[in-house]
Amino acid sequence: MPEVALVSLVIPVYNETGVIETTHAKIVAALDGLPYDFLIYYVDDGSTDGTDAALAAIAAQDGRVRVLTLSRNFGHQAALTAGLDQAEGDIVISLDGDGQHPALMIPEMIDLVRQGYDIVQAQRIEEGDGLSFKKITSGAFYTLINKISGTRIQPGAADFRALSRQALDALKSMPEYHRFLRGMIAWMGFKSVVLPYHEEKRMAGRSKYSLAKMVRLASDAVFSFSLMPLYIGLSAGGVFIFLAAAQIIYVLFLWLTGQYDKIVPGWSSLMAVMLIASGIVMILLGFIGVYVGYIFQEVKHRPKYILKK
Ligand code: UDP
Ligand code: MG
Repeated sequence: MPEVALVSLVIPVYNETGVIETTHAKIVAALDGLPYDFLIYYVDDGSTDGTDAALAAIAAQDGRVRVLTLSRNFGHQAALTAGLDQAEGDIVISLDGDGQHPALMIPEMIDLVRQGYDIVQAQRIEEGDGLSFKKITSGAFYTLINKISGTRIQPGAADFRALSRQALDALKSMPEYHRFLRGMIAWMGFKSVVLPYHEEKRMAGRSKYSLAKMVRLASDAVFSFSLMPLYIGLSAGGVFIFLAAAQIIYVLFLWLTGQYDKIVPGWSSLMAVMLIASGIVMILLGFIGVYVGYIFQEVKHRPKYILKK
């Protein structure tokens, strides 16, 4: 078993007053009696609701706590990256600050890394039969991303996982700006194991993943893990060339066989073809635009986050 002395936890938080104290208490309880040293990194992702004061109070009481403060709200994935970049230790575990990721699984995660797994990935088990907006969108998203990307991404994979030092260093060597950590970690390989868990209710506050943030995460995943949207263009173009060729042959045939009366220029069909074709061209230009935008952001080499403190 690899020698493990220090384990770090990385917890991004955005406006979680009233939640963060309970989360910390749960974590403290889960770590109690474990034979390792711990560092607990809270990454304050530009909170505006007094989370900073709450974190300072937690840090004042618990010597294992480190608080990283970003200069503004950079988003969950960037905040997580900031924490992972700073984290010391032989094993680093990331989890949410809203108590939805059961801290009681931490000892098991550590044991699995000690048994030789570099990545211990927690996977949310969907409960009940009821359909919720999140369930449907998340299900559709994972189906899509696994169809179009070469990297298999576990459905329901959460940003709740343990990484060995080696896996974390590999992740840190990936400097991309648009980060979909679940995909990047799946892409890395390494010996990994999936640990199912039942998500707990959010203790207070509401989800900080607005619809806009969910859409951004999904597009980061699609555009940074797949070239498929560009290929859609190629195949749609092919279909249209084929249709055009078929039409030319048809008209030529009518012309050669003297059926001139049938060659009536149909305004509606012409319009339809034009509209469809230009629609497809627009969509494809849009895809190319997104990729060019991503390339632009990557080549600027902007930092993924700015650490204030
Ligand atoms: N979070 C963050 N920055 C953001 C949005 C969320 O650091 O811009 C944190 C949030 O405080 C929580 C974790 O990321 O600890 C997961 O967010 P949330 O619970 O809102 O997402 P959900 O569980 O609804 O997917
Ligand atoms: Mg949550």
